[in-house]
Amino acid sequence: MVKVVIDRDGCISCGACWTSCPEFFRENIEDNRSSVIEKYMEGNLGEGEAPPELEDCIKGSAEQCPVQVIHAPP
Ligand code: SF4
Repeated sequence: MVKVVIDRDGCISCGACWTSCPEFFRENIEDNRSSVIEKYMEGNLGEGEAPPELEDCIKGSAEQCPVQVIHAPP
């Protein structure tokens, strides 16, 4: 499992992550910012543990994020 953190305070709700990797990210309906889907969420909306098969998808989202607020191991 890989630890992933979204710095939700910096999210501008562009939608890139939940469009490109809906297996891990979703739009939180309360504040329209990105969050981890419930299945993988750990502790709070912006933190999760990802299985190895989702690493590439998550890394792609981290690279696409215009404000670079998705943090995943390289
Ligand atoms: S790609 Fe970045 S700015 Fe866009 S919704 Fe996801 S976390 Fe927010």
